[in-house]
Amino acid sequence: MMRHGQFRSVLKGALASCPRAQQHTFHTSWKPAVQPSASQPHGARWNGFRQHHSTTTRSSAQSTPKQARAFPPLLIVGLLLGGTVYYLATPPAKPKTLNSETFIPYTITAREAISPTSVVLTIAPHVLDPSPPYLQPGATPSRWKHPLWSVEFKQPEVQIARHYTPLPPLQADTDDEARDGTLRFYVRAVGGGEMSNYLSRLGVGRDVWLRGPHAGFDVLPRLGHCRRVVFLAGGTGLVPGMQVARAVLDQRDDTKVSLLWAVRKREEVQAAAPATAAPWWQLWASKSPTELRADMENPSHIAAHLTEMKAKYGDRLDVRVAVDEEGTKFCDSDIRKALLAGLSATQHSSGTGCRLHDQRLHEHASEFEAPGAACQCSDSGDANAGKNLLMISGPDGFIAHYAGPKVWLGGTLTQGPVGSVAAELQRRDGKLASDWLVLKL
Ligand SMILES: Cc1cc2nc3c(=O)[nH]c(=O)nc-3n(C[C@H](O)[C@H](O)[C@H](O)COP(=O)(O)OP(=O)(O)OC[C@H]3O[C@@H](n4cnc5c(N)ncnc54)[C@H](O)[C@@H]3O)c2cc1C
Repeated sequence: MMRHGQFRSVLKGALASCPRAQQHTFHTSWKPAVQPSASQPHGARWNGFRQHHSTTTRSSAQSTPKQARAFPPLLIVGLLLGGTVYYLATPPAKPKTLNSETFIPYTITAREAISPTSVVLTIAPHVLDPSPPYLQPGATPSRWKHPLWSVEFKQPEVQIARHYTPLPPLQADTDDEARDGTLRFYVRAVGGGEMSNYLSRLGVGRDVWLRGPHAGFDVLPRLGHCRRVVFLAGGTGLVPGMQVARAVLDQRDDTKVSLLWAVRKREEVQAAAPATAAPWWQLWASKSPTELRADMENPSHIAAHLTEMKAKYGDRLDVRVAVDEEGTKFCDSDIRKALLAGLSATQHSSGTGCRLHDQRLHEHASEFEAPGAACQCSDSGDANAGKNLLMISGPDGFIAHYAGPKVWLGGTLTQGPVGSVAAELQRRDGKLASDWLVLKL
C-alpha cells in the first residue's frame, strides 16, 4: 500500500501533467500548532518571570549607590527581554471559529446522496460564531459578504486541501440556517480524486475541517450598471452560479440571470425521472436543453433548490439543463441566444485599462481576489460603466471547451485569453465582445 509520503511525491510528480491538481493547495501549515506543554502551563511561565524579577530586586538591594543608579535601565532591559521571550515562547491561542488561516472542525449533520457519484453534505461548526466572516456585519444572518466564495477542506490523513463552494441558504430556512452556522456543499467524487472520494464517503456525525472564506471574483462591481449574467456550468460547477444568481438578483430588480447547467446523468436533476417516450416524428429531431420548470416532478436536492430560486425570482432567473446521457448539450446557438436575450442597445463603457472591466487585463488574473477593487473606467461615475457577465464553471475540459483553458503563470492559475466557443461568438458579433466580460471559474 502506498504510504502518505509516497503518495505526496507521486501527486507532486503528477502536477506537471495534471494542471487541475496544481491548482490545489498543498499545505504543511495545517499541522496542529505546537501546544503548550502540560508540565509548563501559562501560569508556570508567568511564575518563572516573577522569580527572575525578584532575583534582580534582591541583588539591587545590596548594591552601591552607583550600581543602584544603573539598576533601573538594567531592570527595564531585563523585563523587556523576559517579556519578549515569554511572548515568543507562548503559542498564540488557536481560533475556534472559521478563519482563513487555520482549519477548524465542523460536523456532518446531514448527507443526501444525489447520484452514485455526488452528494450534498450539510455541516455545522463545533463552536458557533455569532458573526462568521462570510456574513455582512450587522445585516440579516443570511446576507453573505461575498457574491462568490469558497472554503478549503483538508484531508487529515494526507496533507492536501481543496476548495468547495457553499450552496446559498434555502429560502425556507434562511435565517435559522445562517444563525446556526450550517453550510451545505454539493460534492462530486471524481475518478481517482483523493479529497472528493474521501468527503463523499463520510457519514453523518463525522468531522471535517474547514478554512476560509476565500473570496472569488467580485461580481457586482464588474456587472456595474449592466443587467445580464449568463452562467454556463458543468456538474457541481453550478454552485458558484447559484451564489452569483442570488447575489445579482437580490442586488437590483432589473437584473436577469441565465443558468445553463450541463450534467452527465438525469439523476443529478431528477430522481426517478418519469419515462417520457418521444413521439415517433421527433425521434430524428435534434434534442435541445430543457427549461427547468418550477413544477417539475421528483426534483433532486439541487433541482429543488433551483425551483425554489425560480419561485422567488420568476422570469428574472432562467435555468436550462442539458443531460449528456440523453444527447443534449449546450451548442454555440444556445449560448448566443442566452447572451442576446434582453440585451439592451445601450452603448457600454469600453472598460479599457480597468482592472474590473478590461478583458485583456483579466488574462493574468486569478479567480481569487481581495474584494473592494475600484472601477477604473474613465466613465465610472456615469451609467455606462460595467459589463454583462458570461461565466463558465466546471471541470477543466468543460471550461477549455467553452472559453479556452486557464493558464498557469508564475505558480498562479490565471484566466488566460478567451478562446474556443466564447471567442468565436465574440468574433462573429462585435457587441458580444464589447459588452460582455468572460470569467472562468
Ligand atoms: C474555487 C473552487 C471551488 C470548488 N467547488 C467545488 C464544489 O463545490 N464541489 C465539488 O465537487 N468540487 C469543487 N471544486 C473542485 C475541488 O476543489 C476538487 O478539485 C475536486 O473535488 C477534485 O479533488 P480531488 O482531491 O478529489 O481530486 P485530485 O486528487 O486532485 O484529482 C484530480 C484529478 O487528478 C487525477 N489524479 C489524482 N491523483 C493523481 C495522480 N497521482 N496521478 C495522476 N492523476 C491523478 C484524478 O484522477 C482526478 O481526475 C472546486 C474547485 C475550486 C478551485
